[in-house]
Amino acid sequence: MFSPVVAKFGGTSLAEGNQFRKVQSIVSLENSRSCIVVSAPGKRFEGDTKITDLLGEIHRLKREGEGHEGLLIEIHKRYEEIHCHLNLSNDLRSEIHGVCKEIDLSSHRDFILSRGEYLNALIMAKSLGYTLVDAKDIIFFKDNGELDDHKTHKAIGKRLSKEEKVIIPGFYGADSRGSVKTFARGGSDITGALIAKGVSAACYENWTDVSGVMTADPKIEKSARTIPCLSYKDLLRITRDGAQVYHPDAIPPVESVNISIHIKNTNNPEEAGTIIGGDEKNGED
Ligand code: ASP
Repeated sequence: MFSPVVAKFGGTSLAEGNQFRKVQSIVSLENSRSCIVVSAPGKRFEGDTKITDLLGEIHRLKREGEGHEGLLIEIHKRYEEIHCHLNLSNDLRSEIHGVCKEIDLSSHRDFILSRGEYLNALIMAKSLGYTLVDAKDIIFFKDNGELDDHKTHKAIGKRLSKEEKVIIPGFYGADSRGSVKTFARGGSDITGALIAKGVSAACYENWTDVSGVMTADPKIEKSARTIPCLSYKDLLRITRDGAQVYHPDAIPPVESVNISIHIKNTNNPEEAGTIIGGDEKNGED
């Protein structure tokens, strides 16, 4: 049976219109990249604010009875820029407007926070001609707040087997009453890992703004180099020690079924990046 590649793109990979274009070309280069998971737009430059942080601030202002309109306009403009850059339809413009209206009317923190990913998925699905599958229909949490692994795994397999090419918003699912519930921050990595396991992916690509797991922070250490392969155990240690490149909770789903994680750079796609696990020899000492 044909095994798809699951590709997750992080916030900096989708921060603005020209980054979307890079993602489009990466996805269209490889036909097997058929399950795409997206984060919300991240920082475009040093000192910029991530959309998820702006949404969190909107929720705080609402709770404290203060005005949030300025921030909502800022968010709307960021999506308008992406929409414009990609030359997409007016229908999509109305949909973006509709989601901003929903943010305006909601007081539910997790719902508000999740719209960053949802809007990116909406735009990416339209621009690639892929089907948008909402994460709240395939990722489930139990009443105690933990992920419902069994229900999630079954739902992903069942829903995605009906589609050829899908876009899924990262970072959230649904609680037992069907309301949106988010993972911890950085949780889109977990979404991607769950999807990879659920569709028995050939591999899980995690696209970011660095060329894999590095020996040091490349922004600080110019001589930092990419580590070509690692074991899951090493990745767990490195991420628990604070490396931001991958969420530690996104390791177990793929490790349990021995699917390799490829960490790649959206801005330098030809670079090899880092391969983690999937093969007993990787990184074992
Ligand atoms: N957008 C969310 C965050 O900033 C989730 C993610 O990017 O993985 O934490």
